[in-house]
Amino acid sequence: MPALTQSEIDALGARAELMVNSLGTVSAEPDRLVRLFLTPEHRRAADRVTSWMRQVGLAVSEDALGTVRGRLEGASPKRLLIGSHIDTVINAGMYDGPFGVIAGVLAVEHFVRAGRKLPFGIDVLAFGDEEGSRFPATLASSSACAGVFKTDNLKLADRAGVTLGDAIAAYGKSVDDIPAAAYRPDEAAAYLEVHIEQGPVLEVRNQPLGVVTAIIGQTYLNVEFLGEAGHAGTVPMLLRRDALAGAAEAMMLGERLARETRGEVVATVGRMTVAPGATNVIPANVVIVFDIRSGSEAARARLVDALRGGIRALAERRHLGLTITTTREVATTPCHPYVQDQLAEAIRSAVGDAAEKPLRLGSGAGHDGQAMAKLCPVGMLFVRCRGGVSHNPMEYANPRDLGLAVAALIAFIERFDPTKLTSRTTT
Ligand SMILES: [Zn+2]
Repeated sequence: MPALTQSEIDALGARAELMVNSLGTVSAEPDRLVRLFLTPEHRRAADRVTSWMRQVGLAVSEDALGTVRGRLEGASPKRLLIGSHIDTVINAGMYDGPFGVIAGVLAVEHFVRAGRKLPFGIDVLAFGDEEGSRFPATLASSSACAGVFKTDNLKLADRAGVTLGDAIAAYGKSVDDIPAAAYRPDEAAAYLEVHIEQGPVLEVRNQPLGVVTAIIGQTYLNVEFLGEAGHAGTVPMLLRRDALAGAAEAMMLGERLARETRGEVVATVGRMTVAPGATNVIPANVVIVFDIRSGSEAARARLVDALRGGIRALAERRHLGLTITTTREVATTPCHPYVQDQLAEAIRSAVGDAAEKPLRLGSGAGHDGQAMAKLCPVGMLFVRCRGGVSHNPMEYANPRDLGLAVAALIAFIERFDPTKLTSRTTT
C-alpha cells in the first residue's frame, strides 16, 4: 500500500487526540483523573475501548484480569500483540497508557478498511494493571497474558482491605480462568507498545518518535558505614574513624565510575542518614543508598562490582565497619534487535527525511513489556511529550506527533515478518 499522506497522518492524529480526551473523562473523581485496576472506572474505560474495537471490526473478548482483547485474524495462527494500559496513577495525565491502545486500534483499522488479510493476526490489548496504584504489585494483567501470573498475588490487598482475588470476582471474572489468559509462546510472535516517552530526550533532540532499546534494569545498594563518634575539637584527624567522610568518598567513587561509562550507566545517591548528626560530633554511623540503572545488564553488573570493591577498600583504609546490601534488583528487558530495526525503518517511512537516523533510547520507566518479554520478543515506540512531563495532569503530546506514531505503527505492521523472529528474548 502507498505511504500515508500528510493530511491522512494529521487526520489520524486528530482522531487519536479526541479518543485520548474521551478516555481522559473516565475517572473516579470529577476534578482529577483517577482510574484504578478493577474499579467501576476501569469497567467504563474497558467498555469504551471495546466499542472502539468493535467499530473498526475487531472481535472483542476479555480475560480473567479484565484485559480487553481486540482480535484481527490473519493468514497464519501467528499473532502480533499490540498493547498498553488503561489504568492510571492518582491525579494522572491522559496519554500515559491510553494512547498506546488507541494507536493500536487506529493502525488496525487502516488494514481492515483496505480489506487486506495480513500474513499474521493482530491482537490489540488494553491492560488494566500497569501503574500498580491499587495493589502493592504491578503488571498482573500482562503477567497473565504472558503465562507468568503469580497466584500468591491474589492475596494482596488494597488500602481498603480488598484482595486482588476479591476484586477480580467483584469485576465479574473468575480467578480459575487466569491460566486461560496466557498466550501460547508459538502463537505470540512479538509484543509491541507505543507509549509517550515520559522523559525529555526526544524533545531535546527535536524528534517526534524514538526506538526503545531496553526497559532499563535497576539495582539499589544500601551501604552502611560504621565509625566511631568523638569530639570534633579533641580527636586528631589521623585518629578518627569518620563514617560520613567514608560515605562521601564512596559517593564520589560511584559518580566517577558512572561518568566513565559515558552514558551507559547512571548512579545516584538520593538518600543519606547520618548519626548522631550533631555539628560537633564525628559521624559514627552513615547509611547511603545507591540507585544504579542501565539499559545494559552487563554494564550495570560491572559498575556494581567495581563500586562494591572500591567501597570495601576505602572502608578498610579508613578502619570503618561496612555492610553492603542489595535491596532491589530488576533485570533489564532488552527490546528485540529485529523489532528495533523494523521500528527504525517504520519511523523513517512515517517521518521522512527529518528522521534519517531515528533516535534510539532506553526506557527509564517500567512497562508491560517487562512481563510480555517472558512470553515473546518485545519492542517499544516512544512518542515525544511536552517537557518530558508525565504522571501529572499537565501531560501532553502534540496531535501531529500522535498521528506520526500511528503512521509508524502502520508502517511497522506493513513490514513485520514473524519468521524473522526465531529466538526469544529472555531477561
Ligand atoms: Zn504507562
